[in-house]
Order: sequence, then structure tokens, then C-alpha cells
Amino acid sequence: MNNRNEFVDFSDTETAFASKSDKELRKSLWLFRVMNNGTLVDVATWLARWAVRWHIPFTKTMVKATIFDQFVGGETLPDSQSAIEKLWKSRILSVLDYGAEGKSTEKDLDAACEQFVRSVLFAAASESVPVVSIKVSALAQNELLEKVQAEKALTPDENARFNRVKERVNRICREAFQQSIKIFIDAEESWIQEPIDRMAEEMMERYNKDSVVVYQTLQMYRKDRYPYLLNLFEEARNRGYMLGAKLVRGAYMEKERERAEEFGYASPIHDTKAETDADFDKGILFCVDHFEEMASCAATHNMQSCLYQAELIGKRNLPRNHPHLNFCQLYGMSDHITFNLAANGYNVAKYVVYGKVEEVVPYLSRRAEENTATKGEFGREYSLLLTEFNRRKNHLSV
Ligand SMILES: Cc1cc2nc3c(=O)[nH]c(=O)nc-3n(C[C@H](O)[C@H](O)[C@H](O)COP(=O)(O)OP(=O)(O)OC[C@H]3O[C@@H](n4cnc5c(N)ncnc54)[C@H](O)[C@@H]3O)c2cc1C
Repeated sequence: MNNRNEFVDFSDTETAFASKSDKELRKSLWLFRVMNNGTLVDVATWLARWAVRWHIPFTKTMVKATIFDQFVGGETLPDSQSAIEKLWKSRILSVLDYGAEGKSTEKDLDAACEQFVRSVLFAAASESVPVVSIKVSALAQNELLEKVQAEKALTPDENARFNRVKERVNRICREAFQQSIKIFIDAEESWIQEPIDRMAEEMMERYNKDSVVVYQTLQMYRKDRYPYLLNLFEEARNRGYMLGAKLVRGAYMEKERERAEEFGYASPIHDTKAETDADFDKGILFCVDHFEEMASCAATHNMQSCLYQAELIGKRNLPRNHPHLNFCQLYGMSDHITFNLAANGYNVAKYVVYGKVEEVVPYLSRRAEENTATKGEFGREYSLLLTEFNRRKNHLSV
């Protein structure tokens, strides 16, 4: 597999891990080695969820000193400042991502909205945080979104609650518009995605008149998303606003397939990884081809897709730091991509998740599961860390 082209070299581990001290490098290496063991991860994830919920002494400290430190910026916004500043020393931007999940009372949903607004204000006061990402499922009850999508009649109370969801989303986007911050609206499970799509379209139409403030996320593992990207673009052009598109492959493949099987409908997900990859790269090509009229972000840890976007930018002689052409990875992962893109002058950011330990446990378990040997990410991260570890060792012994 290629890890370099004439524009960028992802095999350069010295650049990738320059910001890590030897001690930090050893710690990451140890952590990724431990995560290789799928059974251990399953047991530890279960224990961590349980122990953190029941406030078992030391669990929080242990989670915080290990996996939390690797994948999360901090417990609060000010707590995340040092991670953000460290990234910025390497010219890497941050996307603030409040990681709380699974809240459902109106009070909690309002509180989450306020927290996203605080993220926007925090971003506005920082030179290296241009974007805040939001999850509509953190602002709404999932059952309500599901009912809206299924076009079932809503009770007056549900109607009022759904209006409040739309108000929350609008409040965050309006604040972002006023503060010149951008919003990424994350994509979620297909059975709640339609109302999210409609809200994202409405927000783009309202706030993307002169520049792109709101970005919708498209999961290219879905068979219908490439045509949807083309439709969105046409629609934006016809209605006089600019499209913002964040491209991802999609995080819920197993869940999607299981549900499709359970309810007996055709899975919306591509049958093979190759088809997902092909649609993702077609999406990149479309976005780069139309960069003057729209903005995009390749949110991926896939080296080939990142090399492809870098190559398209290079071959078309476009400015590497054009504000409409972006890359993004998750904090704690794929530093070889992020740091090398930044060192070569591209616009690249990390999603910096923040939240209390107990709030981000679901996010952490997804990162742990994705980094087990069976999921394939492990080899990627571990072997790069090991290469750098050996490089430093040999360098010292010269
Ligand atoms: C900055 C950032 C933001 C993100 N935001 C979101 C978001 O808003 N919503 C969301 O859903 N996800 C999001 N993700 C996660 C993303 O969707 C992927 O799950 C993750 O990044 C892995 O895909 P990849 O492109 O990095 O790399 P790869 O490792 O190349 O791709 C793995 C992905 O390919 C797809 N795939 C794997 N096997 C198959 C198969 N047999 N058939 C079809 N497809 C297959 C799946 O989508 C899988 O996750 C985000 C990721 C990043 C880096």
C-alpha cells in the first residue's frame, strides 16, 4: 500500500510523532499494544462502563491516565487548551467535539445545547479552533428522531419537543454564524438521519449565503450518498447558498446491517469495502472539482484517500491551504497523516473530543474496539509508533 506520493509522505514518522516525548511515545505504544487484545478490550470496556457509573474508586483515575489521555483533549474546555495548543505548534487546527452521549431528558438536552454554544464561544476566542462539531442525537431523544423519520403522527408534546430540537440546532448555528465559527453536523444511524439531513439543509440555506458556516456529513458507505452529494450541490446552487460537505466512510456498519436483517429491508450500506472506498474517492473528486462553489472536509484515517485529495490539489495547482479544501482526523489517531499534511502546508485538523470521564466512556470504547487487531486499525497505529520508537533508538545509539 502506498504511503507517499510526490506531494506528501505519510511514512515520515519523525514528523508524525515530533510532538511526543520519548515517554509519551512509549505510553502510546504500550496502549496500542494492550488494545490489540480484543478480549481484553471487551472486558475492560464493560468494566470501565460499570465501574465509572458506580463510582468505583480509582477507575476514573485509571481510565484518565491511559485511554482518556490518548483520545480525549480534556474533561472541560479549559482542560483541553493544552492539547489544542500543542497541536497548533505543528500548525494543526482543532475541531471541538463535546463527547457526551446518551442524554435524553429535556433538561439534559438543553444543557448539551448550552455546552455546544460554549464550545462556539471558546472557539471564537482561539486562533486555532475554527470548527465545532455537533451531534443532533445529543440534542434530541433518538426515539423522537426515529418517529419523525418514520413519518408517524406526532403527539402535540412530541411536536413541541421536535420544535425544541430544531431551535437548539438553530441556536448553535446562529451563534457560530455570528462568531465566524463553522459547524460540522455529524452523521448518525440511517434510521434517524433523515430529520438530521433536513435540519442540516435548512441550516446551510440560512447561514451559508456568503461563506460556508454549516457542513453536513455524508457517510459514503451508504449506497445513496454519492447521488445525494450531487443533489445537495445542485440544490444549493439553485437556491443560492454554498454547500459544506464533510465526507466520512461511516461508523455504524455492523449496527446498520444487523438492523436491516432484523427488520427485513435491504441494507443501505455498500456490500464491500471497495465500493465504499470508490464512493468516498468519487466524493473527494467531486468536491475538489467544485471547490469554488462549495467547501469540503475529508474526515478520514485512510491514507489512500488523503493522498488522493493531496494529489488532486497538487495536480490542479490549487493552494494547499485553500479554506474550502480540508482534512481531518480524530485526536490520538493517525498522527502520521495529520502531522505530515500540516508540515506540507495543507489545512488539517483533529477532532478534539472533550467531556467528563463518565460521559466519554462510550466514545472511548468505540476507539478501543476500532483499534483491536480484528478491526485492522491496530496494525496501522502500532506499527507506525514502533517504527518511530526504533528510529529514535537507532538514532541515539549512532
Ligand atoms: C474527523 C472524523 C469525523 C468523523 N465523523 C463521523 C460522523 O459524523 N459520522 C460517522 O458515521 N462517522 C464519522 N467518523 C468515523 C468514520 O465514519 C469511519 O468510521 C472511520 O473514520 C473509519 O473510516 P476511515 O475512512 O478512516 O478508514 P478505513 O479504515 O479505510 O475505512 C473503514 C470504514 O470503511 C467502511 N467499511 C469497512 N468494511 C466495509 C465493508 N465490508 N463494506 C462496506 N464498507 C465497509 C466502514 O465505514 C468503516 O468504518 C469520523 C471520522 C473522522 C476521522
